[in-house]
Amino acid sequence: MSQKLDSRSSTPLDDPVGSLAEFEPIHRAWTDKECRQVLESAPDAMVIVEDRGQIVLVNAQTEQLFQYDRQELLGQPIEVLMPERFRDRHREHVLDYFADARVRPMGACMGLYALRKDGSEFSVEISLSPVETARGMLVSAAIRDVTERNLAEKKINRYAAELQRANQELELSNRELQDFAYVVSHDLRAPLVNIQGFSKELGMSCDRLRSAMASVQLTESECRELSELLDEDIPEALEFITASSTKMDSLLSGVLKLSRVGRAPLTIRQLDMNQILADIVASMQFAILQAGAAVEVGTLPPCQGDQTQINQVFSNLLDNALKYLDSNRPGEIRVSGREESAEAIYSVEDNGIGIAEEHQESMYQIFHRLHPQHGSGDGLGLTIVRRVVDRHNGKIWVASSPGRGSTFYVALPTVRRQEGRVGSEAAGESPLTSEDDEQAIVCRQGRA
Ligand code: ADP
Repeated sequence: MSQKLDSRSSTPLDDPVGSLAEFEPIHRAWTDKECRQVLESAPDAMVIVEDRGQIVLVNAQTEQLFQYDRQELLGQPIEVLMPERFRDRHREHVLDYFADARVRPMGACMGLYALRKDGSEFSVEISLSPVETARGMLVSAAIRDVTERNLAEKKINRYAAELQRANQELELSNRELQDFAYVVSHDLRAPLVNIQGFSKELGMSCDRLRSAMASVQLTESECRELSELLDEDIPEALEFITASSTKMDSLLSGVLKLSRVGRAPLTIRQLDMNQILADIVASMQFAILQAGAAVEVGTLPPCQGDQTQINQVFSNLLDNALKYLDSNRPGEIRVSGREESAEAIYSVEDNGIGIAEEHQESMYQIFHRLHPQHGSGDGLGLTIVRRVVDRHNGKIWVASSPGRGSTFYVALPTVRRQEGRVGSEAAGESPLTSEDDEQAIVCRQGRA
């Protein structure tokens, strides 16, 4: 849409600074001062051009941006403000524009350059609008220096690319670590079985030696020395070997279990958390009765997740809630949930022994146990819980005070994220499997 302006007798070119009163609106007589104020208050350099492409008006921002005095520009072809290489083509564009004048950005999608008086170039963004006046159609060009913006954009793009690369590297090394943990824990078990087997055999050989000794003539000191070896030193060494290999076996199965959790394919679907918790509580009935605890489960919102793995999360949390109750008071455990901005937030609350603040992060580390005297465990439960929650792009955190109890919070997505594979899954760690591909999504790795 063009603006309607009236004209007076003189042309701006007659006036060395150009007269804005030339372009008085028809409906109301604007003073020259008013028109100039409007032009000068524009944030951009404003250059007004007539149909032959000659500059008829400029504002102070133009002088500043292009380093010209306005008298030097008035009456000059607009091309004076652009690099030589664009000038010929631009003259044609001016003709085309006047033939179909409308408000539009100039050269959208292509980089535009302007030329200062000192010959330096800079990037610009230009908006064109026709101005209809009594002396004919004029075009006003609002010119903005976008050098800084382009630099900032380039910087942002570079950072984004670096971030993406770092992410990919992280995913790759994560996957390599997972694979390494899997292979190492898997392969180390074979020699461990050998150590355990041969230790047993060594023990049996000692027994046979002991009985063979009875039929051999030995001096008293030889007999003492051999008995010491067979009855004390060797059994003691074997006991250490057996205890260490049993410990190592349990550590290796822990690492293997954890890496399996990370590698298992996820089948994400809407989960009925009321059903899942009801099943878990039913399967733990014996332990609940034994602990003399009261377990209350509220109405839980659904979430998006892999049924097996989410089941594992809440089984571990409930198991811990029961295991770390305080024997000085009746145990009370409450599971509740609420929905909050595309997340279901579940809580598992107990009135147990609680967790000191300084341990509330370290307790997620593999094999880390804070209260080994409170029941058996391998220090793996919370590590698995966090790994699963991460894979679901969820969060886990705890609020606890020693002597009063703990509340574990788990936030899981309630809506499907369709942005595709990200995190370790993107790197191929855990291929997506689904009975219903439409329903399935793979979640992003997250962290509490
Ligand atoms: P585990 O229970 O096998 O020791 P976890 O990884 O499940 O291993 O938990 C790590 C440690 O965190 C536990 O040893 C325990 O000290 C502490 N912990 C976990 N849950 C609770 C809880 N509900 N109350 C108090 N301490 C807890």
